[in-house]
Amino acid sequence: MNKPLEPLDLPSKRPPRDAGYSVGLTTRIGRTYRFESAHHLPNLPDGHKCKNLHGHNYRLEIVVCGPLDIRGFVKDFAEIDAELAPLIKKVDHRLLNDVDGLENPTAENIAAWFFKRIADCERVRVYENEDCWAEVVAAI
Ligand SMILES: [Zn+2]
Repeated sequence: MNKPLEPLDLPSKRPPRDAGYSVGLTTRIGRTYRFESAHHLPNLPDGHKCKNLHGHNYRLEIVVCGPLDIRGFVKDFAEIDAELAPLIKKVDHRLLNDVDGLENPTAENIAAWFFKRIADCERVRVYENEDCWAEVVAAI
């Protein structure tokens, strides 16, 4: 999968690829996380309700794509959890505007922030609530 940006912090330590089951197939796996944060959107005009400090119970969905490795995994969910834990820690119960790279923490920018930091990520979707979400996908 081509993508314009490499993950920022993590070296890729992938097991060898399996030349069997996944040949000719595209395999995706997904994982959902949740975090609670406050934010305000500084670039909105005065009077817009989202310019005021408020919070969301965010839901983060990530999709990782790639060929299967020798274990039969695109990626071990435990590896994804280990990769995401420090990122979730940076945003959970925080004012997102104070997080490096999230000075304008729209759902769109939050999705991009995660996308750039997850190895082999194909898609990130961030829900601010049950009805509103933003998604970032890998460039083709
Ligand atoms: Zn908001």
